[in-house]
Amino acid sequence: MKSYQIVEWGKPLQMCLRDKPVPHGQEVLVKIEAAGVCHSDLHIRAGFFDLGGGRRLTAADFGSKLPMTMGHEMAGTVAQLGPNATGPKVGTRVVVYPWIGCGVCSHCLDERDTDCEAQQSLGVRRDGGFSEYVLVPKGRYVVPVADSLDLALAATYACSGLTAYGALKKMPRMSPTDRLLIIGAGGLGLASIAISPLVTDAQLVVADLDPSKLEAAKKLGAHLVFDTRSADTAAALKLAAGGPIRGVIDFVGSRQTAELALAVAVKGTVIVIVGMMGGSLEIPLPLMSPRNLTIRGSHVGTLDELKTLLAFAEEGRLPPTPLTTRPMSEVNDMMDDLDARRVIGRVVAIP
Ligand SMILES: [Zn+2]
Ligand SMILES: [Zn+2]
Repeated sequence: MKSYQIVEWGKPLQMCLRDKPVPHGQEVLVKIEAAGVCHSDLHIRAGFFDLGGGRRLTAADFGSKLPMTMGHEMAGTVAQLGPNATGPKVGTRVVVYPWIGCGVCSHCLDERDTDCEAQQSLGVRRDGGFSEYVLVPKGRYVVPVADSLDLALAATYACSGLTAYGALKKMPRMSPTDRLLIIGAGGLGLASIAISPLVTDAQLVVADLDPSKLEAAKKLGAHLVFDTRSADTAAALKLAAGGPIRGVIDFVGSRQTAELALAVAVKGTVIVIVGMMGGSLEIPLPLMSPRNLTIRGSHVGTLDELKTLLAFAEEGRLPPTPLTTRPMSEVNDMMDDLDARRVIGRVVAIP
């Protein structure tokens, strides 16, 4: 089978011809039909995350070993079950939950794989979906999807949809007079606009520096879009929002965007940082308590949340986010386009 692998950090993925894996024990082999390209793939390919102040978290630090097949947004059909595997039968259309934990720690036993300290996430630490087949450790991580759901769109729910959903669920309860600020109208930002009516009553304000992305946000149902290239961004944004910004989801995660989030916060605002663009933030500590601020991270979502999200999609309650498909052989170009901010919504690789 053809797999697109990182062979050397910071270099383009290489097409490698490998044997089709044979599932052992509880493993399930899935034939990939669609694999989304994510912004975090750029960091993984580069081999590091920028921690600010010249410090880096390297891919080797968080347990990635080379060569490795990238791609964590996977949909396809079950191809073969290991002798002890349970789960959907051969031929079932499925989305793969890639955020897999060790399976034995208290977080994993509580079905919160995302909080596992020894994660084995597919496409991050183990071989993922930029390939013709992927080996999934257990059948429970292979979630059936209805025939009505397009597999390219379904694949995007495994990361961009799930991450947006997981972040939205960490917001406080808000009323229609409250504002929820979404920073970044990329794949995740647009997914959050599609999902938000199912999670919050707040009006959505979407900020980005790219007018074409803001246009896509508006089309998908953002109440207000805001171009962050304006002068005195924070003051102008507060004024334009037309109501208190009680929640912020930062899908960029740079010093500038986190500073913007803090600058527009009112008392009690919850700021959820999702993006990993890089950098660090200085926070005046005496403001945290009297302003009742919450700053927290949110990492993807649980298996249960993915199932809920797929059910929403199957019930027709999620407007589809913009999506383009391209042959998997162009995966490096797809990543370069994403890096250069040339992608609206999600781009999905087809083997
Ligand atoms: Zn992702
Ligand atoms: Zn665990």
